[in-house]
Amino acid sequence: MIPVAQLTISSVREGLKNKEFTAVELTRAALDFAAAENPKTNAYLLLCPERALAAAENVDRQLAAGEDPGPLGGVPIGVKDVILTKGVRTTCGSKMLENYIPPYDATAVERIEAAGGILIGKTNCDEFAMGSSNENSAYGPVRNPVAPDRVPGGSSGGSAAVVAQGTAVVSLGSDTGGSVRQPASFCGIVGVTPTYGRVSRYGLVAYASSLDHVAPFARNVRDAATVLEVMAGRDPLDSTCAAAPVPNYAAHLTGEVRGMKLGIPVEYMKHASGETAALINRSVTELEGLGCEVREISLPATDYAIATYYIICCAEASSNLARYDGVRYTGRSAKSDTLSGMYQNTRGEGFGAEVKRRIMLGTYVLSHGYYDAYYVKAQKVRALISKDFTRAFESLDAIIAPVSPFPAFRLGEKMSDPVEMYLSDIYTITGSLAGIPCMSVPCGTTGEGLPVGLQILCNHFDEQKMFRLADAFERR
Ligand code: GLN
Repeated sequence: MIPVAQLTISSVREGLKNKEFTAVELTRAALDFAAAENPKTNAYLLLCPERALAAAENVDRQLAAGEDPGPLGGVPIGVKDVILTKGVRTTCGSKMLENYIPPYDATAVERIEAAGGILIGKTNCDEFAMGSSNENSAYGPVRNPVAPDRVPGGSSGGSAAVVAQGTAVVSLGSDTGGSVRQPASFCGIVGVTPTYGRVSRYGLVAYASSLDHVAPFARNVRDAATVLEVMAGRDPLDSTCAAAPVPNYAAHLTGEVRGMKLGIPVEYMKHASGETAALINRSVTELEGLGCEVREISLPATDYAIATYYIICCAEASSNLARYDGVRYTGRSAKSDTLSGMYQNTRGEGFGAEVKRRIMLGTYVLSHGYYDAYYVKAQKVRALISKDFTRAFESLDAIIAPVSPFPAFRLGEKMSDPVEMYLSDIYTITGSLAGIPCMSVPCGTTGEGLPVGLQILCNHFDEQKMFRLADAFERR
């Protein structure tokens, strides 16, 4: 029996090297385990055994020939269903793309596979990544593997669940306003949102392009850093992807954080539930014990973040989702003989309620007469939110904060009130609006055993420092 659920990238490497298992055996074990676990969580929308086994055979062939299969050689990986995989159905959690087979791979997927990673399946998510609980998927919600009556978080709930339940060693999600950090926190694993532009968005289905990131989940900081390093770096196919050289992140995991200056924003502790606040405060004490200096700071524009984010993301979504017209992609409705009727029926039948709500909100804030009052103003406030961080990082190495005001909530608990659901993103969207790297690292569990994550935010392209701090905290 291969202990798939306990593996890390380095134990996969060791196991292959010591011939405890072959890549094909490990892949079979992961696929069987995923098929057995899936009825409990609904985390995978699809497994891709042919592609996975072909890749695993290739890894075994390389090993037999004495070649290095790459940093992710033989590692089972789940990929969120908003990330394109050539020849493998990609639905975005939407009925609109129920039968969509992409003609190309996302750059992130291409790089993961070139590094020896094994794509074992596509993971469930909120429709077009819009949501905070994974309850907006057209294919049913995902259950939190830690507490099956609760949500795994969203929108990358499936990708978080597969790593938490152990059917994949690492996974890819997407983070626009917290969709990797919040599910990581709810499921007790590590989730990393890199600097905007650090990883190519080519092949990531666009939700809000100025905020979208491809982002990894893992069971420890080192694995997350390894996956990011594989994916990061210039891509001529995405002009917003940065050319800055990619550091060797693992080399920075020294455990040494003595003298690091950390800030904890007063605005972020205001809404946190008692148990979450207590765990964050305990983390502060532990970080001080490691030699960090922690002080309170203020990020005054935080109060406007929710409104700003939901104006900008809806505006961008309404424009990005205009392409689903029944002509260029799948999902065409057969019910009308006129072109505009076909558009209307296609979009009426194909999109779920939350997606329609956001398209309408976005169309409204971009419309003549409201554009200046909402969209332009939101862009100005976005600049203020960024400025808060720029100022803070003049004298700080990192900011620490909760990820979410509360731990995983019950399925259905927030579905009737969209504003309440939006408010759950309060601590994650600020970093997204500023485009800075941020991550969630487990910091403890509540009395009921629900995981809580600590958020670490650093300045643009300071991922090394963020990983160093998170790794030292993880070792504590
Ligand atoms: N919950 C946020 C939203 O619905 C964030 C989603 C995301 O990061 N993809 O927009």
